[in-house]
Amino acid sequence: MRLESIQLEHFRNYAGQRVDFDPVCNVICGENAQGKTNLLEAMVCLSTGKSHRTRSDRELVRFGEAGFRLAGSIHTRGRDFLSQLEAGFGRKKHIAVNKVPAKSASELSAVLNTVFFCPEDLQLIREGPAARRRFMDASLCQLRPGYAAALSEYQRLHEHKTRILRDCDERPDLIATLPDFNLRMAETGAVLIHYRARFAAVLAKYAAAAHSECSGGRERLEVRYQTVKTVADPLADQKLLVLQLLEHQRTHHYAEVSSRQCLSGPHKDDLEVELDGLNARSFASQGQTRTAALSLKLAAREIHKEIIGEYPILLLDDVLSELDPRRQEYVLNRLGSGQVFITCCEEDRLHALLKGRVYRVSGGVVTGG
Ligand code: ATP
Ligand code: MG
Repeated sequence: MRLESIQLEHFRNYAGQRVDFDPVCNVICGENAQGKTNLLEAMVCLSTGKSHRTRSDRELVRFGEAGFRLAGSIHTRGRDFLSQLEAGFGRKKHIAVNKVPAKSASELSAVLNTVFFCPEDLQLIREGPAARRRFMDASLCQLRPGYAAALSEYQRLHEHKTRILRDCDERPDLIATLPDFNLRMAETGAVLIHYRARFAAVLAKYAAAAHSECSGGRERLEVRYQTVKTVADPLADQKLLVLQLLEHQRTHHYAEVSSRQCLSGPHKDDLEVELDGLNARSFASQGQTRTAALSLKLAAREIHKEIIGEYPILLLDDVLSELDPRRQEYVLNRLGSGQVFITCCEEDRLHALLKGRVYRVSGGVVTGG
């Protein structure tokens, strides 16, 4: 899969711009606040129908204009596609693929998939379990429709059960409804664990390989899926998982009622990340944190490739800073196949770049390539 060219009209700080891309590596250089991230954001919009930074399409419209248009020429599955997105102009958002209006944004992702890495993704290593659950959920929802359905059902049940626990002091009769919620949460929870355990196992393998290569074999990254304590083997049969989840709920019943919180279930899952046997959240340096977070994203890209048969395009925003020359060289030259876009502030990092094109962005104008 590759993005051959992109056209932006009144998008962020771009007035009107067309850029043709290299099939392998594209490096986008420029000073701060010139439009590097905005260019990657436009690619995300063409892949998902929305920005990763904001929910409001209004923010994407260049100041003083009425709307924006994006178009991308994409080559995938041996064919050429034209994806278009238009918002503002006092009309409903308009999406089209090959000039045929699309019913939903999923038609864009059927043509262009992106894996995006930005400085905020360092949260994957630095923050609590919620950040890593979001990462697992986002990847699995894109790839497995069965997972997306189970996740939204589980979240609905979780919210409802939390409301019951909160209100059961005033309405003790609500307690009687808990067994039914517990059973349904155990059943959908087992589906989540089933998918997450398999995802984490493959992720661990690819992330360890990426981290080892990037660090020149000096560091060992381990990723482990952690779920409800009573689940001895998360890869076990789902029927067994249901029983083990029910057992955990049973032993936590009084704690749940007295704390008025839902304490049992895979909504507390985590992906434990260790570097050379030490918890990465507490002990990783800045460069190690960046390498580990990048390795998780690269592993997600490999899983995409296994499932859809082609690499999604990889967007790396500001990934080179804080990496030593060896790690920079890995990012620039050794990410394997697939098309890559990398932004950076300083061109002097690029003496290591072996192939690909370098673009310069200044004030919303792209030159070079
Ligand atoms: P950095 O190196 O600091 O990350 P960058 O090149 O990635 O910089 P961008 O995030 O792409 O910078 O943003 C560039 C500029 O775009 C910002 O100065 C911002 O004010 C401007 N900008 C953002 N939204 C709009 C908009 N809707 N209309 C016009 N300009 C905008
Ligand atoms: Mg930026």
